[in-house]
Amino acid sequence: ATGLVWFRRDLRALDHAALYHALTHCQQVHCVFVFDTDILAPLPRADRRVEFIRESLVELDAHLHELSGHTQGGLIVLHAAAVDAVPQLAQALGVNAVFTNHDDEPQALQRDNAVRTQLARNGVAMHTYKDHTVLERDEVLTQSGTPYSVFTPYKNAWLRKIDDFYLKSYPVERHAHRLAPRPTEHARPVPTLGEIGFEQSTLGQLKLPTGSRGAQQLFDDFLQRIERYEETRNFPAVKGPSYLSVHLRFGTISPRLLARTAHALAQQGNPGAATWLNELIWRDFYFQILYHHPHVAERSFKPAYDAIAWEQGDTAQALFRAWCDGQTGYPLVDAAMAQLNQTGYMHNRLRMVVASFLVKDLGIDWRWGELYFAQQLNDFDLAANNGGWQWASSSGCDAQPYFRIFNPVSQSEKFDPEGKFIRRYLPQLAGLRKAALHAPWEAKPLELQEAGITLGQTYPRPIVQHDEARLRTLERYAVVKAAA
Ligand code: FAD
Repeated sequence: ATGLVWFRRDLRALDHAALYHALTHCQQVHCVFVFDTDILAPLPRADRRVEFIRESLVELDAHLHELSGHTQGGLIVLHAAAVDAVPQLAQALGVNAVFTNHDDEPQALQRDNAVRTQLARNGVAMHTYKDHTVLERDEVLTQSGTPYSVFTPYKNAWLRKIDDFYLKSYPVERHAHRLAPRPTEHARPVPTLGEIGFEQSTLGQLKLPTGSRGAQQLFDDFLQRIERYEETRNFPAVKGPSYLSVHLRFGTISPRLLARTAHALAQQGNPGAATWLNELIWRDFYFQILYHHPHVAERSFKPAYDAIAWEQGDTAQALFRAWCDGQTGYPLVDAAMAQLNQTGYMHNRLRMVVASFLVKDLGIDWRWGELYFAQQLNDFDLAANNGGWQWASSSGCDAQPYFRIFNPVSQSEKFDPEGKFIRRYLPQLAGLRKAALHAPWEAKPLELQEAGITLGQTYPRPIVQHDEARLRTLERYAVVKAAA
């Protein structure tokens, strides 16, 4: 039999579920990636994610070529609507089955159903596998067989279930001789950005390592400091986390490898590894929430929260714009937004701070913030992003209680005590002493003058008073309390 592996958010050759199953079921296996015009159409022409994918495909193509041992071996890359292109390619290659990994986002499921139907019409099977998460869908359920919506019991059940069976890697390399040579018309290099209608982004300047090799490099580096993850992970000025999120997003590293390593280290008593494993479990948790409750992509997990009246109109638009542009007058919030806008990454602590600020200080609908993050984040993943936003707005499963409202100044004092992060992203404030950096409007006029700062000109005055905003938020959320 002949198989076709369709790569999507799993851009690596090793420890790859669909590729392994194709190679062990078929004599000959072709590999394809489709630059899906349905996904690419709305994106800006310079997009770091598209460039990240393109660079990672160059490596994947070379890796498949090498593993296949053929001069014509490698990845077929198309630029078309995947929903039509995959069945057409399957037909043209005369394959018996298409193999691909699960993608549980609502639109991806819809696309995959359409592809499955079309393939079936042509007598071609479609086999799909878990690969993007360690445990998924119905693998972790409560005793009564329902999905968990609270993290801690989910995590405990996850940890009880996990064993070598779920953590082992798929030995693709053993069967790689079955990788087929590409038909002549497809034996071409990965298209350039220009060929798919895109321009170079800032990815190169950011020196963000791409592909499986880039992911491995980041992971090796992180393993040197994983022991200190627990103490360092909340301080954005410190190199604490792994920075692997973009690689997990595009599957350039296997989540099983990460979980296996963290689990083994945690069992040896490495405290940082246990905490980090927890984060990987949060990732699985939000994927299963999205799978079981797809309405979260549009509405609150908890329906009562849909009754909240958010700010509307020109004032809300202006406040939102100030937040996006890092012009709120709260240095930690503005520095965090500068990090996002310049690099496409934002530290987890800061994602919580800026999300809370938008929703609970500015009174703006969390979906506006969710969308802005989706446009900007290199690691944007619907499940985690939606989970994070619904956590911050209190509308999600196991979310922050609505009456808990981050104070942007005390968060700043606590998590950027020396103001190092703020100085890095807001150089215009660098001349301030650390006490004033967290709340420049409280600085003495002389200090501002000496630091060359004129509030309202070199740096904005606060666009909202936190104490007043806090009271408005409690009122706004009263509808929720009434419903509870
Ligand atoms: P590390 O601390 O090294 O964590 C390791 C991995 O665990 C991460 O790469 C990520 O895959 C996973 N992880 C960590 N924290 C979480 C979490 N809270 N939920 C789910 N997975 C987690 N993460 C995304 O991958 N994509 C998003 O679009 C996204 N949007 C977010 C929006 C908000 C409002 C919030 C509060 C969090 C969001 N997160 C998102 C979660 C988290 O902030 C990032 O995963 C993390 O900052 C990525 O950095 P890292 O790889 O260095 O993380």
